[in-house]
Amino acid sequence: MFISNTHFDTTRANIEFTGATAIDIPIPEGRDTALEHPFKGNMDLDELERLLEQHQGQVGAVILTVTNNSGGGQPVSMANAEGVSALCSRYSVLFLLDCCRIAENSWFVKHREQGMNDLSYRQIARKMFSLADGAVMSAKKDALVNMGGFLALRDERIAAACTNLLIITEGFTTYGGLSGRDMEAIAIGLDEVFDPHYLDYRIRSTTWLGDSLHALGVPLMRPIGGHAVYIDAKKLYPHIPPREYPGQALVCELYRLAGVRSVEIGSVMFGKYAENGELVPSSMELVRLAIPRRVYTQSHMEYVAETFEEVLRSREQVRGYRIVKEPEFLRHFTAHFEPLGQ
Ligand SMILES: *Cc1c(COP(=O)(O)O)cnc(C)c1O
Repeated sequence: MFISNTHFDTTRANIEFTGATAIDIPIPEGRDTALEHPFKGNMDLDELERLLEQHQGQVGAVILTVTNNSGGGQPVSMANAEGVSALCSRYSVLFLLDCCRIAENSWFVKHREQGMNDLSYRQIARKMFSLADGAVMSAKKDALVNMGGFLALRDERIAAACTNLLIITEGFTTYGGLSGRDMEAIAIGLDEVFDPHYLDYRIRSTTWLGDSLHALGVPLMRPIGGHAVYIDAKKLYPHIPPREYPGQALVCELYRLAGVRSVEIGSVMFGKYAENGELVPSSMELVRLAIPRRVYTQSHMEYVAETFEEVLRSREQVRGYRIVKEPEFLRHFTAHFEPLGQ
């Protein structure tokens, strides 16, 4: 069993593929899109304690995702990470950070958490890493590169076991899945990402897009996170039930109207079928507008905002979708859809 504030989709699929269970326990505030709260990415510590007590010896690791991508890109506070760390040491469970957006998370900690403002972004990240037994990172996020990632562990025994598995599956650590050149690029990206000017521009431009859509009346996840704006498709299209995938309907609309590419984070991504074949929907129906780093200018953001004026005008005409073909795992990557009757 693995426990997280919210497992990222591919993380969850890898866990489930091994036969293990992945449990998400964000704080309840994190599931109310309209609510304002500084750290909606936090893990529910009472629930964590209850699960660790109940499943002693069965928990493989607790994974704290910073920022909480599938939970709306919301940050995690230092106090919450300290709480998770304390519970993990009390129950002798491995504590891992999914640190894809550790620099963006540090920006929010510095500006929103009491007592953190005097620390630099880098110091905040160090402090958070010091609480964990290890970290996983998809480097195409806050390492500013186009591919790659890593697993870092403090325990040399586990690290050696993982290295040996890597040699069998990918190749030696210096030339396997990642070539030396790519690791050099990651090292430089991890350094540049903590530049205060870069982080300010990054967070502010995302916030600008989110605030513009909010002003238009688009229902979305508040407050705006670091790397993306998350539209609440359940509220945008209340006439489309979760089993007809309101998020997927919006994804198609955005592409059809303006060539804007987004991704559904709802019942296509996380829905499950019950024994009787009925869809058990995800707790939220979100659409993520993730913003690539160092790519877009203000006028691109304005174009996306204008697209939503059209989305709002035609919202009542939009219909849901049906899945006509899907694989067993990670179906949202390759599923085929068909629009439902107009
Ligand atoms: C992107 C991401 C991952 C892993 O992504 P892959 O595309 O599978 O490499 C893991 N966790 C978080 C939070 C992510 O954003």
